[in-house]
Amino acid sequence: MVNNDRCLFCRIASGEIPARKAYEDDQVYAFHDINPQAPTHILVIPRKHIPSLDDIDDADSGIVGTVIARAAQIARDLHLTGEGYRVVANTGAAAGQTVFHIHFHLLGGRNFGWPPG
Ligand code: AMP
Ligand code: ZN
Repeated sequence: MVNNDRCLFCRIASGEIPARKAYEDDQVYAFHDINPQAPTHILVIPRKHIPSLDDIDDADSGIVGTVIARAAQIARDLHLTGEGYRVVANTGAAAGQTVFHIHFHLLGGRNFGWPPG
């Protein structure tokens, strides 16, 4: 699996840096955000190092789709579907992206405003 040994989220997915794991399989890793913005705040990432949505090509569409499907499964497993939940991928610095390894924020357990800040 393509990996970047200086990337924080690659190092979390490999187990090198500890995190509170929520889910893992051979392609996807999910862990609780260290600075939660909602009662449930999980980051769902591909194990493959892809910096942002702006870097995906058609060959990555399968893995990105799988990551989103896993986020939805985690939401079902945590019974977030009844109240609703939000899945967000900040892309680029102006949108608030601070870690440049694609991650989908899975947020639930409260109401969310729109438009987002
Ligand atoms: P973003 O700002 O969209 O790139 O999201 C990065 C997220 O990673 C933020 O919500 C941070 O709180 C979270 N984060 C940063 N370092 C860690 C870490 N070591 N463990 C878990 N979450 C982290
Ligand atoms: Zn990475």
